[in-house]
Amino acid sequence: MLHADRLVHTTCPYCGVGCQIDLHLHDGVIFRVAGRYDNKVNFGNLCVKGRFGYDYVHSPDRLDTPLIRHRRRAEPQPSGWDEALDLVAGRLEAIRREHGPESIAVLVSAKCTNEENYLLQKLARAVIGTNSVDHCARL
Ligand code: SF4
Repeated sequence: MLHADRLVHTTCPYCGVGCQIDLHLHDGVIFRVAGRYDNKVNFGNLCVKGRFGYDYVHSPDRLDTPLIRHRRRAEPQPSGWDEALDLVAGRLEAIRREHGPESIAVLVSAKCTNEENYLLQKLARAVIGTNSVDHCARL
């Protein structure tokens, strides 16, 4: 039986409920996930995704760097985060300048924490200047 050489207290990544979990790791690999009892969100309980859905973490198919498609129909190429974020910021700024802030909409995700979704709507309203903010759970 494996014993954890490291415990990581974190938030379940699957939905905005924000259940608190402990990742049990051995040699850097997650082998067990347990709900934490010391909080008022989930009191140790987890749904099936939050309890068992972590195989993707160590998948070799997982994207671990941004991809940029430099030409239409070209294969996306790996890039650095600075290059990718500069590209997105530049494109958003150009669209905003040409068509106005309300031409941009921000769709947030149930897979983000409430705090991440709060920050995204702040970015939309305070930086981009659009109130077109929606959530995938409404689709
Ligand atoms: S996916 Fe399940 S375990 Fe994870 S935060 Fe949502 S309800 Fe909690």
